[in-house]
Amino acid sequence: MTQIIDGSTLVGAADSQAALAQPCEAETASSTISLGSDTALDFPEAPDSAIAQVVIPADDAVTEAPATETAATEPTAPETAAPVSAFAAFGLRRELLEGLAAIGFEEPSPIQKAAIPELMLGRDLVGQAQTGTGKTAAFGLPLLERLDPGQRTPQVLVLTPTRELAMQVAEAFNSYAACMKGVKVLPVYGGADFRDQIQQLRRGVQIVVGTPGRVMDHMRQGTLDLSGLRSLVLDEADEMLRMGFIDDVKWVLEQLPAERQVVLFSATMPPEIRRISQNHLKNPAEVTIRQKAADGRRIRQRHLVVNGPQKLEALERVLEAVGSEGVIIFARTKAITLTVAESLEQHGYDVAVLNGDVPQTQRERTIERLRDGRVNVLVATDVAARGLDVDRIGLVINYDIPFDGEAYVHRIGRTGRAGRSGEAILFLTPRERRFLGGLERAVNQPIEPMEVPGNASINQHRLDRLRQKLTAALQQPACNPEERALLGEILQRVAQEQACTPEQLALAALELGLGGKPLLLQGEERWGQGRAGAPTRERDRDRGERDRGGERRPFNDRHQERGEDGPEDNMERFRIEVGWRDRVKPGNIVGAIANESGLAGRSIGKIRIFDAHSTVDLPKGMPDDVFADLRRLRVMNKELQISRLGS
Ligand code: ADP
Ligand code: MG
Repeated sequence: MTQIIDGSTLVGAADSQAALAQPCEAETASSTISLGSDTALDFPEAPDSAIAQVVIPADDAVTEAPATETAATEPTAPETAAPVSAFAAFGLRRELLEGLAAIGFEEPSPIQKAAIPELMLGRDLVGQAQTGTGKTAAFGLPLLERLDPGQRTPQVLVLTPTRELAMQVAEAFNSYAACMKGVKVLPVYGGADFRDQIQQLRRGVQIVVGTPGRVMDHMRQGTLDLSGLRSLVLDEADEMLRMGFIDDVKWVLEQLPAERQVVLFSATMPPEIRRISQNHLKNPAEVTIRQKAADGRRIRQRHLVVNGPQKLEALERVLEAVGSEGVIIFARTKAITLTVAESLEQHGYDVAVLNGDVPQTQRERTIERLRDGRVNVLVATDVAARGLDVDRIGLVINYDIPFDGEAYVHRIGRTGRAGRSGEAILFLTPRERRFLGGLERAVNQPIEPMEVPGNASINQHRLDRLRQKLTAALQQPACNPEERALLGEILQRVAQEQACTPEQLALAALELGLGGKPLLLQGEERWGQGRAGAPTRERDRDRGERDRGGERRPFNDRHQERGEDGPEDNMERFRIEVGWRDRVKPGNIVGAIANESGLAGRSIGKIRIFDAHSTVDLPKGMPDDVFADLRRLRVMNKELQISRLGS
């Protein structure tokens, strides 16, 4: 039997209560939760973290036939319901209900509703659900219910992909079982003291939660006796596959007693995982929780239409004008994450990349850096960002359109967390516009149009930011008192020598702070005007050519064009010695030249990329020293060797 259930994420929903509550002296919240099949769970006591979700329409669902829709049963929970009545309905023992009351669980989540009754019967189960849907309690409660505290050898083994997860799951078991006598839970993972674990195992443990490697070590050494095992849980099975543990998992499965219950949870169902469930699970119950949209009301969603070759520049503009304190940019491939990150780095952003090539340990470090603000922009693929839970994400940019509504929902759910507001911006190429409707249906609300921010709004934003930075610098000096005193002396001395006013002095200091970069973008015209839906002659003509022209002309007067080939009147064409072969992109060239020459990115004209070289149009009258600098400038690790064409 397959159940498909409309899910909701509960990320961190009860963490706060868990920390505060006193086990076994349950003081439950008075608010009642109504639950319909379409209503997301709402945890009024934890508004910060309960993210309401919207259902993906059935035709977008990723489930396989045969599937029967089951509405969430349990229209109960009346206003006067006794605490944890909804969990009591499962027939859980009193101590467990007290444990749940203490951590503030009132209403089972959809996966808990579906899985707990099956697991209480001792059935095998395959569950497909994203992180944050409440899987731990979905298996933890029924397995605790079936536990025999009298048996001192392990009865439950949970395998998790990481040690963090192992610790989390072990903690969760402890909190559910806080009022049960004689339940011993042991997390077992690499890096922790082996002998200590052996001691604890000897003293008697019923529930072992561990990573595959360390669990296998104990099994091989005979220090983990699984002869009395009743249940095995594979938590985040796809993650274990991704991290290369799948053979270990199979090995463990093969060592288990023939009569045992196997529970497999996975966010996705790659063939390898499906095979495991076919080969090692007996007539399993199947539960699929469909991911719902993140709370649309909290996330402002917009889209903009931009041609492929202009995406990078559009991205930079969006970041400058809309940028917030934490940004995640989603790209479709690893290669694109790298291109985007490189380009942003060149523009001075603190960027990190998260893709499938990034090893787990580094991945965790990256997320930590994003969390504490050392990294402000993360460029990620879908897989790599799965389950990523960082509160300070204010903006999600879908640089490439996601594959389906579910992915879109998942991506934008990275912002608007913990009660904050968030923004999501979707880049569409003119052709991809037809997918907008599907995504809007997935979130059940319109995704408003916006334009690539023009010079005026970027300039306004720059001025605002400068003012904020100046104010912050006044309020919170960055230097230590000694250095400040020295700076003060310098100011005094210059003021005397130059006989200038404090205002003149401050201005000079501000200009110095700009580091030689122009404060404002020049030109009035709006970016991308008439561009997004531009006729085909404006698009790429062949692989070897990328057209960046058009919108850079004043007033976008195409009639002034001097034929296809020549540069515009006020421009001059240059040759540079990087091309397709070096995998250079227009964005790399613009970024590098803009940085080095001080030209605004926009005043850089048409770029054409050929096999071994490229051409670029730059404003006439380039000063000799800039020219000399550009000659030595390196892009994609090659000197540009810039030269004037036709001279
Ligand atoms: P998953 O394993 O699916 O990622 P977890 O089991 O870690 O999800 O649960 C996510 C968060 O939701 C945790 O903080 C957990 O305490 C909380 N939670 C789970 N079930 C409930 C519930 N029925 N009521 C309230 N909070 C819950
Ligand atoms: Mg989990």
